[in-house]
Amino acid sequence: MIETDILIIGAGPTGLFAVFEAGLLKLRCHIIDALPNIGGQLTQLYPKKPIFDIPGYPTVQAEELVNNLYEQIKQFEPGFTLNEIAQTIDKQEDGTFIVTTDKGTKHHANAVAIAAGLGSFEPRKPPIDTLSKYEEKGVEYFIREPEKFKGKKVLIAGGGDSALDWSIFLADIAAEVTLVHRRNEFRGALDSVEKVQELKNQGKIKLITPAEVIGLEGKDKLEKLIIEKEGSKLEKEVDYFIPLFGLTPKLGPIANWGLDIEKNAIKVNNALDYQTNIEGIYAIGDINIYPGKLKLILCGFHEATLMCQSIYNRINPDKKYVLKYTTVGGIQGFDGTVKEAKKAVVKSIE
Ligand SMILES: Cc1cc2nc3c(=O)[nH]c(=O)nc-3n(C[C@H](O)[C@H](O)[C@H](O)COP(=O)(O)OP(=O)(O)OC[C@H]3O[C@@H](n4cnc5c(N)ncnc54)[C@H](O)[C@@H]3O)c2cc1C
Repeated sequence: MIETDILIIGAGPTGLFAVFEAGLLKLRCHIIDALPNIGGQLTQLYPKKPIFDIPGYPTVQAEELVNNLYEQIKQFEPGFTLNEIAQTIDKQEDGTFIVTTDKGTKHHANAVAIAAGLGSFEPRKPPIDTLSKYEEKGVEYFIREPEKFKGKKVLIAGGGDSALDWSIFLADIAAEVTLVHRRNEFRGALDSVEKVQELKNQGKIKLITPAEVIGLEGKDKLEKLIIEKEGSKLEKEVDYFIPLFGLTPKLGPIANWGLDIEKNAIKVNNALDYQTNIEGIYAIGDINIYPGKLKLILCGFHEATLMCQSIYNRINPDKKYVLKYTTVGGIQGFDGTVKEAKKAVVKSIE
């Protein structure tokens, strides 16, 4: 059982920043995310895009903002359960919660902050009947350990940045990389398209376009793919098939937690602290809805800040919280680090 003060569901910008605000109040956080990496939409959907409306940053690349958020929170030593979906929630008699993931990991917390954005991202799967039969037996939707593909025959399908970038990356690792796309044109960054062209010319990537994978074959694991190219069928022996057609967000299990849901989002008390209809469960960031809601990163940061104050009062009903500016109080990390502004030197003038 993982013990924490605040269990945060979702490692997008809102969930990450909540760790910082909680840390200032000496509250510990643990984050669950369905994905293998942090950053939510910023990492999954637009890592290389510049964002122009983060206060204090005239421009910041999405992945840089995620890296900076991690840099800012690591002193508060958040725990992470990545690659697991928060599946069930059980309120205990003492008002605390146990949240269990799809892989059975249990987390016990005083309060739960749902920062689940658009929901958990799930891979968009091509409509092939036998696909699910070979999942984890040759079909992969995420590349978590590239070393797994060393010396293997890999076929990637897709026409966007992920398909291009992973083809380039695996060209140096796998025995054979084939990229299949249903059009001749790719939708990725120009330099990635040019790099794939270069690797194709060097014989390091095989390109099959316009074409689609339409069948999978193999006894106990994937052995062969059937590809349709301009009306004719080809067979290709492979060890791995990696369809990279993007991710779709699904509200998923959270929809069954007894929360008030409106338009696929969780209703909260925005006049106070972003608490849901269940006391002790909060919803912040893109996942919540209230009159005037804006799905913006800076709104998620604000909501996380007010939520943490409320959770502090919930955990410490007898203590009175006095707001301290970080410029005045500094920051004491749980890792022993201390950051503080230089104290003013008081000198008397005779
Ligand atoms: C193309 C694009 C451009 C954008 N540009 C801007 C911009 O310029 N400025 C701006 O302010 N906003 C922008 N946005 C919006 C911004 O990205 C969102 O407001 C922000 O990502 C919301 O953050 P979040 O932390 O609330 O949720 P998300 O970033 O969506 O993160 C939620 C996380 O929760 C996880 N999760 C969900 N359910 C579960 C579960 N059951 N178990 C485990 N994990 C779960 C998901 O996997 C995900 O990682 C843009 C969005 C897009 C798509």
